[in-house]
Amino acid sequence: MAKIVCVLYDDPVTGYPKTYARDDLPHLERYPDGQTLPTPRYIDFVPGTLLGSVSGELGLRKYLEGNGHQLVVTSSKDGANSVLDRELHDAEIVISQPFWPAYMTAERIARAPKLKMIVTAGIGSDHTDLQAAMERGITVAEVTYCNSNSVAEHVLMMILGLVRNYIPSYNWVMKGGWNIADCVARSYDLEGMQVGTVAAGRIGLRVLRLLKPFGVGLHYMDRHRLPESVEQELNLTHHTNLASLSKVCDVVTLNCPLHPETEHMINADTLKGFKRGAYLINTARGKLCDRDAIAAALESGQLAGYAGDVWFPQPAPADHPWRSMPHHGMTPHISGTSLSAQARYAAGTREILECYFEGRPIRNEYLIVQKGELAGVGAHSYSAGNATKGSEEAARYKKQ
Ligand code: NAD
Repeated sequence: MAKIVCVLYDDPVTGYPKTYARDDLPHLERYPDGQTLPTPRYIDFVPGTLLGSVSGELGLRKYLEGNGHQLVVTSSKDGANSVLDRELHDAEIVISQPFWPAYMTAERIARAPKLKMIVTAGIGSDHTDLQAAMERGITVAEVTYCNSNSVAEHVLMMILGLVRNYIPSYNWVMKGGWNIADCVARSYDLEGMQVGTVAAGRIGLRVLRLLKPFGVGLHYMDRHRLPESVEQELNLTHHTNLASLSKVCDVVTLNCPLHPETEHMINADTLKGFKRGAYLINTARGKLCDRDAIAAALESGQLAGYAGDVWFPQPAPADHPWRSMPHHGMTPHISGTSLSAQARYAAGTREILECYFEGRPIRNEYLIVQKGELAGVGAHSYSAGNATKGSEEAARYKKQ
């Protein structure tokens, strides 16, 4: 029987919810590319409830314990003597979410001799040292597509929030003011602007589709070119590199995974190639950007705004400069963990576990690493190597 260690974010400070704002979730059958939503044999949770926090347990306890397995659920993941570190020595599976990642570094993998699978309940497996996982023959899987559309909605919200200067205007209301000139002195229309996405995978393409009705010029770069029919339908301009895209775009949104090829792709040098006053939206991964270069570009006015929900490390310490830099619209990492998304990634995690324990193949789309190499989405969207360096700094976060 297996031991499964599941790292989840803390319950709300007000306690695990007893009631919810809405009574149901819309019923979706398929993702836009035709892939079915997760298909576990059964689920033991109510969709629309909080599943991603410790008490929600991704709805897995009944299933796992009913089959004789041991489930350890904890939010304690960083620093000396974390529960994760204490439980790793005989764990067969580690599950965590990008929102509150269990950084599975080479050191941790080395301390887990029985480890066979690392599951991301969500999308983005850069918190695992993929090189170390390949070398140990550990399977890395994630729930591809589960929250891609959730993130795309967040990107759209953040583009509009920055361009229209929403958050500062909201703050004037909260302060009791009616300071129209203060609000609008940085407020523009999105219409007519040029908007570019770095990567046009599931999220990036959805962002382009959502933006089409705004009457903007649409641009993209990706290591895989989109079909000509899609380029024509959306009237896309394709760029072969970041410099060419950033030179012409008023808004740039990052939608590629973090891997050695993309780490710090936005830095002091590449920012010089952006239009002065560009807006940068990053809901992909914090480490795609050089932390201090972003803060400096906002200070100097090279960027007019920066928004996103991803940081490095996570949780971000209280003195992380992105908390206090000017003209930002940051949230904690939430875009992919709406209650709607949680229902999909909890079901997808269950599907992966059922496949694993029943000896059935895990969907190819869910695979990042298998049998010592990048596989599935991993082979399509990642490069080999490790992007977890520096993650130990997450231990500096203190709960508020
Ligand atoms: P996807 O695999 O469908 O798309 C990724 C795209 O990135 C692919 O088209 C790939 O070709 C492209 N790409 C990879 N390396 C590139 C490079 N060097 N240059 C240009 N393009 C490159 O994945 P997705 O569902 O669109 O998700 C993308 C990423 O977004 C995830 O890996 C994750 O890091 C992030 N994400 C964040 C959240 C969140 O909650 N904020 C949720 C889901 C995903």
